[in-house]
Amino acid sequence: MKYFSTHKKSSSVNYKDALIRGLAPDRGLYLPEEILPYPQDLMQSDTYWQMADKLAQNLLNDEIESEALSKIIQDAFNFAVPVKKIHDFNYVLELYHGPTAAFKDFGARFMARCMSYFLEQESMKVTILVATSGDTGSAVAKGFYQVPNIDVVILYPKNKVSPLQEKQLTTLGHNITALEINGTFDDCQHMVKEAFMDQKLNDQIQLSSANSINIGRLLPQSFYYFWAYQQIMPNQSMVFCTPSGNFGNLTGGILAKRMGLNIKQFIAATNVNDVVPEYLTTGQYRPRPSIATFSNAMDVGNPSNFDRMLAIYGSHDEMNQDILGYKVTDSQTLAIISSVYQNYNYLLDPHGAVGYKALSDYRKERGDEETPIVLLETAHPAKFGEVIEKATGVLPEIPEVLKEALTKEKVSIEINAKYEDLKNYLLNR
Ligand SMILES: *Cc1c(COP(=O)(O)O)cnc(C)c1O
Repeated sequence: MKYFSTHKKSSSVNYKDALIRGLAPDRGLYLPEEILPYPQDLMQSDTYWQMADKLAQNLLNDEIESEALSKIIQDAFNFAVPVKKIHDFNYVLELYHGPTAAFKDFGARFMARCMSYFLEQESMKVTILVATSGDTGSAVAKGFYQVPNIDVVILYPKNKVSPLQEKQLTTLGHNITALEINGTFDDCQHMVKEAFMDQKLNDQIQLSSANSINIGRLLPQSFYYFWAYQQIMPNQSMVFCTPSGNFGNLTGGILAKRMGLNIKQFIAATNVNDVVPEYLTTGQYRPRPSIATFSNAMDVGNPSNFDRMLAIYGSHDEMNQDILGYKVTDSQTLAIISSVYQNYNYLLDPHGAVGYKALSDYRKERGDEETPIVLLETAHPAKFGEVIEKATGVLPEIPEVLKEALTKEKVSIEINAKYEDLKNYLLNR
């Protein structure tokens, strides 16, 4: 299978090269040239990893030896992926049972293991450069922790990630370095982009990306849409609601639909950083600086996967048929966390709450009460304890996997939001 660049100037490459490069030389994002239908026996899978294995073999068997790929899958997805009913036809797919308690574990763990597989075959060394608004960084750091031949450098905006997230980013050590940037997440993303464009730098070190732009992260984010479908087995099609920032998670769903999964509609839920919902209603794409919200992993002013969405759909009309966008404010987020907790005894995190509000708005607007809707719950509520307490008066219990980081000491290197400072750091490590 070949992967093309969304900018269509660079030539297509195989999975390995797309994975290691992250961004194409023309700065486009990689997408599969053709999207194969999902295997016929897929819905007979007994376990999550069996299902993921079938899908992965279908996509990658020409490049990763079958047994090795099964091992990657088992190793990467060694945690539960429960689908629960909140009430009536409203379901939640809990994607937060991995080691960093957020859905990015799926992509990061899969990508890390694929990369390690390819690097092992050649004696290559890679530096992974990541900008994070919170969760990506820790999922990537954990995913790559102590993986040979890979260094990870994480940029995060000072004072703009939660205390727990910061601990997760800054306490691992070994091959993981955290750079604390005096700026916003957009600054961090910009600095990383600049590093990838700097030819001289790229001649000296092999850089790679692990943001949601990496194809290795995107592919496994399509798998759990099938899993949710299989768990519920609707009579007809179903709707997915995906809380979105860079839109990698939702793009995973679009791939699943293109593989043949019977998805009626996507609900794209954002906080007030609503560049994509706005595009869907107006046809105008207006990237802009991000605004800080309670659902901070979705504080994105220029979603990196938008290019992919455009490349897949080809036009605004086509995209509009599949995706409905909803914007949710912080006060609505608090109100939903509180009401879902009181009415259904289910504790949403702020990102899931944005999704739940969008789902409710969709039901009201469409008068559609009976189509099963699956909300992708992207983080454990305990990662946002302060917000949850504010909404419900209850402080959620922190899961064991997260407690570990809290006891360790933060180690970070503070630098200004200037590309030169990042470059100096990278060259003089
Ligand atoms: C990253 C993240 C999102 C947004 O996912 P995208 O793929 O960037 O749209 C939502 N919720 C949580 C908790 C996240 O970490």
